[in-house]
Amino acid sequence: MEVILGKFSGFCAGVYNAVTKAYEIVEKEENVYSLGELVHNKQVVGKLEGQGMKTVEDIEEIPDGSNVIIRAHGVAKHVYERAKEKNLNIEDLTCIKVQKIHDKVLEKSKDAFIIVIGEKGHAETVGTQGFAGDYSYVVQDESDILDAYMKYEEKSVGEVFVVAQTTFSSTKFDELVKEIEDNFAEANVTFEKTICDATELRQKEAAEISKMVNKMVVIGGKNSANTVKLVEIAQKDVKDVYHIQTLDDLKDVSFSSDDKVGLLAGASTPREIINEVKEYLEKI
Ligand code: SF4
Repeated sequence: MEVILGKFSGFCAGVYNAVTKAYEIVEKEENVYSLGELVHNKQVVGKLEGQGMKTVEDIEEIPDGSNVIIRAHGVAKHVYERAKEKNLNIEDLTCIKVQKIHDKVLEKSKDAFIIVIGEKGHAETVGTQGFAGDYSYVVQDESDILDAYMKYEEKSVGEVFVVAQTTFSSTKFDELVKEIEDNFAEANVTFEKTICDATELRQKEAAEISKMVNKMVVIGGKNSANTVKLVEIAQKDVKDVYHIQTLDDLKDVSFSSDDKVGLLAGASTPREIINEVKEYLEKI
């Protein structure tokens, strides 16, 4: 069976850095806590937890004086402040690209109303808004724009600065910026399309491969925003799209040797799993 593997599949630079450094940290330190799931991949997290790392959802669960890993998504400004109060040793593995967004948002928030285009409640979006102060809003779709405008009107400073969650859909971002410009007509709206290259390339490639295959397999966590986006893109052209986390999830799916299958993976998927699935499919 022919398998077309997306060449941008698997760990992005930010996740690769976070996973590599996390292994080094658990090797040399004790009392290591990851604030949130380090990556959306159960095997990787399981391996690190096997070596002593503990995953917690709230900083208050971490005993004072411990080591805290900040994952690639980043966290809000107040979390760093709380970590210092608790005398935690911060191992900051926030992706450099996310750090740049935080810096920019912090600077712009002095004079502008900040809009973060992204998924409400997503860790990265929450972290980014946490640098924007109260005078900010998260816009996920068109229906949020009126509420954003009402919030803007509380101070109406005349400046609106828009950024994106790095893994947000590129086309959706363009549509929403246009809507924001129309709705904030009297404001000076500027934006930075902070969608990561890795995400854009992956999404573009997903659309291209979808036009060449009759089935698609997408590997990645069910809660991984960038993986879900790949699934949605593939579903536009391919009827049978399988979102799996490990090879086991494919065992009940029947393929025929005539199938032409696309294979994509989200940014948290290790190379070993991609290779394992590819070999399995190619043998059919
Ligand atoms: S997708 Fe891009 S911005 Fe997000 S962690 Fe990966 S490299 Fe960093």
